[in-house]
Amino acid sequence: MKIKYRAMVLSCIDPRFQQVVYNYLKRKKLIGKCSAFTIAGSAIGVTAPKFKKWHKTFWDNLETSIKLHKIKKLIVINHRDCGAARIINGKKNFNKSNELSIHKISFIKLKKKFKNKYPNLNIETKLISLNKKVEKF
Ligand SMILES: [Zn+2]
Repeated sequence: MKIKYRAMVLSCIDPRFQQVVYNYLKRKKLIGKCSAFTIAGSAIGVTAPKFKKWHKTFWDNLETSIKLHKIKKLIVINHRDCGAARIINGKKNFNKSNELSIHKISFIKLKKKFKNKYPNLNIETKLISLNKKVEKF
């Protein structure tokens, strides 16, 4: 089977979403074509100041996968009801709109840094729900 392109998938450690992410990649015919980087909060974990210690590990792994696996794309899958978003939200009421803005900020930060470092590679950002609803950003 010829591989059209390779990607890295950035996703969250939440047990409820492992199958959801797998099914999403299966629908996109991406099983076996992706390297995986799974960390609490997905894009939130690699951009929020609260999780600063994790950021370098992500960028080092991405760089390694670009070199070793010739990936051309980063697929970012955040999810609704994420515990990392709750941590960032702090004591404020955790509602859908607060949650959405936390995800959006993480996507904006990640896209900006990614595009600066890798202008020739692609990035796509998704927010997925337990009911399999996929929102694109
Ligand atoms: Zn999560």
